Parts: sequence; structure tokens; C-alpha cells
Amino acid sequence: MGTTLVLVMTADAAVDRVSQQALTFGVGLAAGGPVHALLVGDPALAPELGEWGASEVHVADHPAFASFAPDAIAATIVELAAGLGADLVVGPGTDDGNTVMARAAARAGHPFAANCTTAVLGSPIVVTRQRWGGSLFEEAAIHAERVMLTVAPHAVVATRTGGSAAVRTFTPSLADEDLLVRVVDRIPATASGVSLAEARVVVSGGRGAGSAEGFAPVVELADLLGAAVGCSRAVTIAGWRPQTGTKIAPDLYILAGISGATQHMAGCRGAKVILAINKDAEAPVMTGADYAIVGDMREVLPAISAEIRRRRAG
Ligand SMILES: Cc1cc2nc3c(=O)[nH]c(=O)nc-3n(C[C@H](O)[C@H](O)[C@H](O)COP(=O)(O)OP(=O)(O)OC[C@H]3O[C@@H](n4cnc5c(N)ncnc54)[C@H](O)[C@@H]3O)c2cc1C
Repeated sequence: MGTTLVLVMTADAAVDRVSQQALTFGVGLAAGGPVHALLVGDPALAPELGEWGASEVHVADHPAFASFAPDAIAATIVELAAGLGADLVVGPGTDDGNTVMARAAARAGHPFAANCTTAVLGSPIVVTRQRWGGSLFEEAAIHAERVMLTVAPHAVVATRTGGSAAVRTFTPSLADEDLLVRVVDRIPATASGVSLAEARVVVSGGRGAGSAEGFAPVVELADLLGAAVGCSRAVTIAGWRPQTGTKIAPDLYILAGISGATQHMAGCRGAKVILAINKDAEAPVMTGADYAIVGDMREVLPAISAEIRRRRAG
């Protein structure tokens, strides 16, 4: 591979984890060739990208980047990739990363492969990518002079190379229409502020919770563990909780009243240890879990919380 460009985004004043993984993915494909990083975020984070394998970092510089402006970032990617003569452009397979990369590919008239887990170099490049919420994998051949793809969250383990990078400022030529779409406000979804994608522990509830109010023991245990609260798609559709579809990779995933449908289990494939609580011993989730408790979540969750409190008090 000739020249590789990796889009790096930030979250909470740090390089986001999936962007670190995208860098590792890009470094692997570059096979010793130059790996340029486009940093959209705090310039102070630029030197760190050398440690993740970038040989050169281009810090996007424009007032537009004060908030998330997908068209402005897409225009920047297209301009920088053309200037560098990049053969491969890699981005993080987050919601924001896919939004930006899809717009960049559309602008440049290139095909785009989202949520890739592997890529085999050649002409064409052959990628494996997640489809249908991760419940099936598609093999696709990309015929393009400039290949644009994103890396599915947690498809690779981010690895430090211990290198260092030259840091430059890149000021794109943006048009007024590039600034029309931008985030003007953010309203946190959870009171605890623990992000699902980044959480070390996640406690989720499913339709077995019975109602929005039935989530109280799920939230109680999550609070005790400093965990993020998750849920199944059925719960989101019922309007009991807001979020679903997020890929997670916690150290511990506790799921209660969730049947373990393929699409749900695909989203938590990266979890190191899974504890399932379900009143049905035959529920599919039981085969995918490391530990299982057969019982009513309305009794089991409060019992776990009570035991944690008792031990902490003692
Ligand atoms: C394209 C596509 C993408 C999808 N993506 C996702 C996704 O990302 N995430 C996702 O979650 N779903 C996804 N789905 C939906 C998925 O197929 C399931 O419909 C959904 O996960 C079911 O949610 P559930 O397990 O909460 O509900 P159910 O399947 O109704 O299961 C409820 C479970 O709770 C148990 N239970 C009931 N009462 C109690 C109790 N008191 N105590 C303990 N256990 C109890 C039952 O035994 C049962 O196992 C997707 C579907 C499609 C078609």
C-alpha cells in the first residue's frame, strides 16, 4: 500500500478509542508505508498519535471545528487525501466517523465500505464488514483508486508502536455550504455520564423489565458499580429507554431480562465476561453467557445490590 490517511476524532478531550483502533488497522495495512493522521480536535493530542503509529499528523485548523460539522470534516478529508495522493483512507466506525466518511466518499465519487473488520490488500481490496447490526458479515471487493473505509468498533485491539510523528497544521478551503450542518447543542443522555461504548462495566435490561419503571433495579446496580446502563432494542422500541445499537466491549456485561437475540449478542461480542439473568433457563442468552442466574430480575438484581452494599458497609 502506498500512502494511508487515517481520520482521528476525539471524545471528552481524548483521542477516541475507535480512532486508536483505526490507526492500528491503518498501520497494519500500510505495511511500513507512510501513515498520515488527520486530527479533528485538540492539537495537544497530536503527539500522542505518533505513539499509535502515525508518521505525520495534520491538525485540522478552522473555526468550523469548534463543533461537530460533518460536511466540513468531509471536505477536509477529501482535500487532504487528494493532496497526499492517499491510496487508502481509514476512519473510525463510530456514528460520527461513518457519517463523515460517507459524506467524504460521496463528495469524491469513491465507494465507501463501513464497519470493516478485515481488509486484504490487492486489486481490488477485499474487506469483511459487519452488516445488520453485526449479525452477519459481508465480504466485499472494493474497486477504487482511493479506498475509503471505516473500522468496526473493537474489531482490532489498538496497539501502541512507540513511534513519534511530525505535526503540521492543515487549513482546509471550506465553502459556506460546508458549514451548514453542525452540532449547536448537546444534551447528555444519561445522568451518570458513563458512555456505553467506553464503559468498563455495563448493566442492561430487556423486555423482562416490564416497563420504564421496571428499570429501577438495573439503574440501581449500575450506579453501585459505576457502570453504564444499556438496554435491548425491544426496550427502545417500547420507549422505556433511549439507546440501543451501540457496540460495547466492557470487562463485565450484566444483562437481565434479555433473550439474547443474535443482533443483541453481536453488539456485545467484545465483552470479556457476560453474566445473564433470565427467568427462562432455555433462553438463547444462556448459551452465550459466561455466568447465568436463572431467576426473576426483579428479585435477583436487588439481591445483588443489597449484597454489594452489605459488603461495602462491612
Ligand atoms: C436488523 C436488526 C437489528 C437489530 N439490532 C438489535 C440490537 O442492536 N440490539 C438489540 O437488543 N436488538 C436488536 N434487534 C432486535 C432483536 O432481534 C430482538 O428482538 C431484541 O433484542 C429482543 O429484546 P429483548 O431480549 O429485551 O426481548 P425479548 O426477546 O422479548 O426477551 C425478553 C426476555 O426476558 C426474559 N424475562 C421476562 N421476564 C423476566 C423477569 N421478570 N426476570 C428475568 N427475565 C425475564 C424472557 O425469558 C426473555 O428471555 C435487531 C433486529 C433486527 C431485525
